Amino acid sequence: MNDLQAILDLSSSWHKHLCPRQVLGARLGLAGAAALGLAIPQRDKRLLALVETDGCFASGVEAATGCSMHHRTMRLEDYGKIGVTFVDVKTGTAVRLSPQLDVRQKALDYAPEEKKHYFAQLIGYQRMPDAELLTIQPVRLTTPVAKIVSRPVVRVNCAACGEEIINEREVMHDGQIYCQSCAHDAYYQADVLLFQPLNIAS
Ligand SMILES: [Zn+2]
Ligand SMILES: [Zn+2]
Repeated sequence: MNDLQAILDLSSSWHKHLCPRQVLGARLGLAGAAALGLAIPQRDKRLLALVETDGCFASGVEAATGCSMHHRTMRLEDYGKIGVTFVDVKTGTAVRLSPQLDVRQKALDYAPEEKKHYFAQLIGYQRMPDAELLTIQPVRLTTPVAKIVSRPVVRVNCAACGEEIINEREVMHDGQIYCQSCAHDAYYQADVLLFQPLNIAS
């Protein structure tokens, strides 16, 4: 199903709208998989997508490639950018794709019948050849892909909070195992406990 229209139908069905970011996600997904020589939408877990923003762009990537959070084949590196790195998990080969810097302006030439920029981009991004639309950069991951993917069977418990940690996301400190929120600054701050299960002594 490398038919762009079918991909966009799928992506827009998750949003009740189609927008330029979904088109970019789909186009980058198609080009990235082609650059790695992998068939999409994938039926296995060989292709890993590291998306640099969430929302509609990630939907386009997912609809094109089959990479998804729920299959552990999509991860968010939240840079707030329209960019994605595709990794062949089997070989470690990785390519980062992003739109060319002047793509918004160039899109207008590909949809001259559309007077509003938004719609010209929506249509233009579908029509532009890859060479006009995107850049593909071979990259090397700073974390080995085997460590990113990890082994799903591994389970340990944090020495501080006791909660279970999967996928080898624990941190070792002075010979003890900790979760990331106990080891570093967490993304949240604990507030007053509103509810405590009765079977836990206070
Ligand atoms: Zn959207
Ligand atoms: Zn902990």
